[in-house]
Amino acid sequence: MNIILLGPPGAGKGTQARRLVEDRQMIQLSTGDMLRAARTSGTDMGKRVAAVMDRGELVTDEIVIGLIREHLTNDQPAAGYIFDGFPRTLAQADALGNLLAELGENLDRVIEMRVDDEVLVARITARSTCKNCGEVYNDATKSIPADHVCTNCGEKTEFIRRADDNADSLKTRLLAYYKQTSPLVGYYYARGDLTSVDGLASMEDVAAQIKKALA
Ligand code: AMP
Repeated sequence: MNIILLGPPGAGKGTQARRLVEDRQMIQLSTGDMLRAARTSGTDMGKRVAAVMDRGELVTDEIVIGLIREHLTNDQPAAGYIFDGFPRTLAQADALGNLLAELGENLDRVIEMRVDDEVLVARITARSTCKNCGEVYNDATKSIPADHVCTNCGEKTEFIRRADDNADSLKTRLLAYYKQTSPLVGYYYARGDLTSVDGLASMEDVAAQIKKALA
């Protein structure tokens, strides 16, 4: 089963993708994670995208489609892929459809995670992640443990804030979402692929809604 998690920054796509990986052994393909990894390892591409990402703009379709293509050419996992943060434009959606077709695969479901914009701002400016495993923490709902031992991986580690999780970049990221990505909601709805879930519900409840959508 191959699915897309669609929603604005802070909707909880990464958190739910990680759950699906744990529960169903699916493979999470996050273009945001791939781009951050390219930056950390200092590749030419990583250097080229750094400023664009920090401003909160989208990197080119060519780059992200290339990243997805590289990851899809490996052996197809039995449990399928979760596309997290990809596609973000109509061109990327078309490219994904073509790549899956080339592999004889389908897109089984697109889950739209709906959230209120004010909640997004509050969530994002308060979030940090475990440097070791990527577990997401939030100052308001799940604060960083005083002993700095991650509740998920059990490592004593650092908790990092993303460079683009600030009010200025977030404004640009939200604009990019509404201008370039939100048309995908209509696109997948019209194809009959879309299920919308209430992203404001608790993490457990959102997971249950997604489970139902995939049943
Ligand atoms: P994310 O972790 O998904 O929030 O992505 C972080 C940043 O990486 C975005 O603000 C964009 O600059 C870039 N990015 C990630 N995925 C894409 C994509 N599919 N298309 C264009 N830019 C992307």
